[in-house]
Amino acid sequence: TIAEEKLQDSFPYSPEIMAATTENLVTLGELKKAIEHCELSLHYQPKVRIADGMVCGAEALMRWTHPTRGNIPPGMFIPRAEQSTLIQLITEFALKQAMEQIVVWERYGIRIPIAVNISTRNLLQPDFSDFIAKLIDQYGIRAELLELEVTEGSLMVDIEQTVAEMMKLAGLKIIMSVDDFGTGYSSLQYLHKLPISFIKIDQSFVSRSPADRGAAGILEVAVDLAHKIGIKAIAEGVEDEKVYTFLHSIGCDMAQGYAITHPLAPDAFKSWYERCNGVYMCSES
Ligand code: C2E
Ligand code: MG
Ligand code: MG
Ligand code: MG
Repeated sequence: TIAEEKLQDSFPYSPEIMAATTENLVTLGELKKAIEHCELSLHYQPKVRIADGMVCGAEALMRWTHPTRGNIPPGMFIPRAEQSTLIQLITEFALKQAMEQIVVWERYGIRIPIAVNISTRNLLQPDFSDFIAKLIDQYGIRAELLELEVTEGSLMVDIEQTVAEMMKLAGLKIIMSVDDFGTGYSSLQYLHKLPISFIKIDQSFVSRSPADRGAAGILEVAVDLAHKIGIKAIAEGVEDEKVYTFLHSIGCDMAQGYAITHPLAPDAFKSWYERCNGVYMCSES
């Protein structure tokens, strides 16, 4: 980052100094305070069924509004949190917030699952599925309205334990998805054993399609792979309607991206949803 470069320019290189300055970018203490001071919130981005434009879900994406530094994107603090048990507090916050939103939206007739991003570290918590089961009970939501997204790369850390915990979660009727599909490795031999309903094809393939033949080829194969093992494919990072039309032509099931809308604060999401009546109309088709 620019901040790191500047610091590197002004100090002679020393590992201690670099470690200290990198930590200063976002400290765990600051993150803890962010939770306590309610600086974190969730924005929601719709998932659309390509066949008919129906809004079939929403992904919860964390936002941190820092009092002096402004908006800090999740890429700046989630990896930091994942290095410690603080990720458990972050996930707990996201789950509770999302469940509250499920209850509120159901009251407004918006009955769609909300997907929460979770980390490997969560799946390695011995009692994670019990913890979620208790929350579902506490909030009185239907488990089918909760979805969990796990990144592909993180599945391989401890595959046995991860699969066991995912089985328990799926047993509760929670929807499970593999995120950033195509960026991890060696999960092909496990993919059909995982209790998942969706693969989310990474935006790096989606945003370059269809112009980049290689990216488009991988995208197509990923969609076919999903269908062959009896699950559905979501394309993430759909930035324009040409891509959306291409996804339609290759039989991709769902789409998510700026072409439909950016992630929105809860009120803005509700307005957006009501304005389009829960159906996204691509102007190209
Ligand atoms: P992700 O789960 O793969 O989420 C998709 C990211 O792509 C989001 O970035 C979203 O805002 C962005 N995006 C959506 N549509 C488009 C598009 O059309 N073009 C482009 N270029 N980007 C698009 P965001 O919100 O910055 O989140 C980044 C990552 O941080 C997420 O990737 C996820 O891995 C992680 N994350 C976000 N919220 C949470 C959370 O509550 N818990 C955990 N553990 N991780 C989170
Ligand atoms: Mg995700
Ligand atoms: Mg992703
Ligand atoms: Mg990602």
